[in-house]
Amino acid sequence: MRSIFKLLKLLIILLVLLSSVLLYRTFQFQQDKVNYDKINLISMDYEAAVKRFAQSLQIKTISYQNPEDRDPNAIIEFHQFLLQSFPRLHQQLELTKINQYSLLYHWKGESDLNQHQTKPKPILLMAHFDVVPINPSTLDQWQYPPFDGVVAEQTIWGRGALDDKSAVVSLMEAVEQLISSGFKPNRDIYISLGHDEEVGGLEGAAKTAEYLKSKAVEFEFVLDEGGFLTQDIIKGVKLPIGVIGVAEKGYLSLKLTTQSAGGHSSVPPDITSIGRLSRALVAIEEHPFKPRLVAATRGLLQTLGLQMPFAKRLVMANLWLFEPFVLQQMSHSPLTNASIRTTQALTVFNAGSKENVLPTEASAIVNLRLLPGDNLKQVLSQVVTTINDPLVKVESLRGIEATSISDFESYNFELLSKTLQQVSPEADILIAPNLLSGGTDSKHFISLSENVYRLNGVKVDKTSFSGFHGINEHLAIDEYKRSINFYYQLIRHLND
Ligand SMILES: [Zn+2]
Repeated sequence: MRSIFKLLKLLIILLVLLSSVLLYRTFQFQQDKVNYDKINLISMDYEAAVKRFAQSLQIKTISYQNPEDRDPNAIIEFHQFLLQSFPRLHQQLELTKINQYSLLYHWKGESDLNQHQTKPKPILLMAHFDVVPINPSTLDQWQYPPFDGVVAEQTIWGRGALDDKSAVVSLMEAVEQLISSGFKPNRDIYISLGHDEEVGGLEGAAKTAEYLKSKAVEFEFVLDEGGFLTQDIIKGVKLPIGVIGVAEKGYLSLKLTTQSAGGHSSVPPDITSIGRLSRALVAIEEHPFKPRLVAATRGLLQTLGLQMPFAKRLVMANLWLFEPFVLQQMSHSPLTNASIRTTQALTVFNAGSKENVLPTEASAIVNLRLLPGDNLKQVLSQVVTTINDPLVKVESLRGIEATSISDFESYNFELLSKTLQQVSPEADILIAPNLLSGGTDSKHFISLSENVYRLNGVKVDKTSFSGFHGINEHLAIDEYKRSINFYYQLIRHLND
């Protein structure tokens, strides 16, 4: 009897201790956030800037999947548009055309350093001016024609308004303004504008990266598209939150093939090529990769947690204990599931042509997206182990490794965070790191910098979000102004 009491007492003490730790951590849970002074919008002719932006949307720099459908004249027209619109920039910066169509600008830093100081490392600012095609069946749903560059309702409408001509043209505006104001950078700034990001960037950004590598250029940080200031997108989070992409998932397409003798369906074997392949595919779906919280996602959850009601905040403040529970919850929705594991999607299945003939071959494609930390070789080998059938041939069609995770407690990350807050009228903004499930051109620059970030200086809500690669792509004029000011102040801060 006494020993039971002793045990109970011990249990109660442990429980009290545990809850104290949980509560203590919850109350200690806060973002070390500096509130930066706001900077007024720069004064410039915004009306003319909006016109130039609208004009850029009229140029059909469409990246079709089939290279033959692409129009090189549109790209050249876009180059000319930039040249005419930003004369000072083109006078001051050195322009190299990479592989004919992608652009690399070099703004040389003028530092008056003494011989004991080392010149700060250069910075790379990136964007892409190609856009995705319009699905013809949705054309009549566009409020304004996608390539007219209409300005209406305080908004600029058209394909590329968000992704990513807004970044290209606002960045150019910012540099043009800085040059006009007499600004001189004290370090080298490079600007890379890709022409084929929407089809992988292999002809553009990848070649630009090769070129810079051959010149042994290394960057303090790289900034590309891919993160945004958002509001009302994440449930339960009222404040605007700026998410800065610090990593990208990898990509792997596997082709699975099975063969069998074929023949007449009236005398079938025990298992056909279709049956064998199906078993393999079912095995794959039934064996998802193990979930885990990578640093970027953990950072995002912790920032979001600050905004959540007490019970959820307690969970987020104590991931050391609740991680398995959080992972289980996140597995339920495809969106959150994609951020915690390497996913595998069965996307293509081909077999058979006639109802009474046994097919000799069946094939399928599985598309995987790798979580940072997993690699192509190890993922392929896990899939082969899962299938556990030597008669299923597995070949890799295309693979891109996941990126490393850039430091989000660094000075550079804070600089982006600070600049975004300073040019934003919203009083309070949260900033969080994020893992991108899609890819950007910046993946080609991973070996040129340890710090690769993805952020557009604009705010998007649910309706503008649906314009991404979709219908009615648009950007409010105020957001376009924010983007110009974001780049302008960021470049100024680089001299600090
Ligand atoms: Zn894009």
